[in-house]
Amino acid sequence: MKKNTIILSFIILLFSCKNNSESNGKLNIVTTTTMITDLANNIGGNLVNVQGLMGSGVDPHLYKASEGDVTKLVNADIIFYNGLHLEGKLIEVFEKMESSNKTPIALAEEIDKNTLIGSEYFASNYDPHVWFNIEYFKQFAIKISKVLAEKDPKNAANYKENERLYLAKLDSLQEKIETIIDTLPKEKRILVTAHDAFNYFGKNYGFEVVGLQGLSTATEAGVQDVQKLAAFIIQRKVKAMFVESSVPKRTIEALQAAVNSKGHNVAIGGTLYSDALGDAGTVEGTYIGMFEHNVNTIINALK
Ligand code: ZN
Repeated sequence: MKKNTIILSFIILLFSCKNNSESNGKLNIVTTTTMITDLANNIGGNLVNVQGLMGSGVDPHLYKASEGDVTKLVNADIIFYNGLHLEGKLIEVFEKMESSNKTPIALAEEIDKNTLIGSEYFASNYDPHVWFNIEYFKQFAIKISKVLAEKDPKNAANYKENERLYLAKLDSLQEKIETIIDTLPKEKRILVTAHDAFNYFGKNYGFEVVGLQGLSTATEAGVQDVQKLAAFIIQRKVKAMFVESSVPKRTIEALQAAVNSKGHNVAIGGTLYSDALGDAGTVEGTYIGMFEHNVNTIINALK
């Protein structure tokens, strides 16, 4: 029997004996990516328990549910995930749950599809890395607040206030990073990374974005991709490119070697947090800290 089949049978078994429960009267929230975990903590505060399935450095494209995760999902009052097939290996688990009374909520599905960047890499037909558009992340915040208020009406005013405070922080973040990016001349705004996570970032801040591995890390970069991108870097005189905390370094290192062998020096400008935040408890372990870190790293390396 395949591992997936075992897990799916496990879910059905657990659901059939599960009663609705709350621990210490608090809502149990389960989230997938670290960005969503951080957001749920900001909106829920100490009124909720948030358990994130994925930690720092974890690649959501490749992440598979463990049996421990399934237990957390079954015990959850609310499940928030990104959707648009970001969590490609969890879709089957979530679809199975939709037929139960607990529907996992795909936050990115709330966004107006006409504004999304299309992609043929994903079954969703859209680029799922939407958190790099701060306006979209604000929509995530509003949705989470709304769902918490519905499930826990006695604390609705608190969730609404947390939402208001967090949205204000996101507005300040937006202003701050626009000021920093304004210092980088337009012709230097070329962002070469391990995989294509930064298209929404590029669209908003005027960067040409090139990812070595395409939109999902599920497909490896081939020799041809490396040679093509090396030629691009030399032609456009790109000063630096970036590794990502959730993608192995070796592909970018191979690209650097290919460029350097042709006599153009390209630096590795630092590590960006793309599909996962930094370690919990650090500044980069928050969405806001991650965004500032990325922007500072990019600007310092390219200017
Ligand atoms: Zn990605």
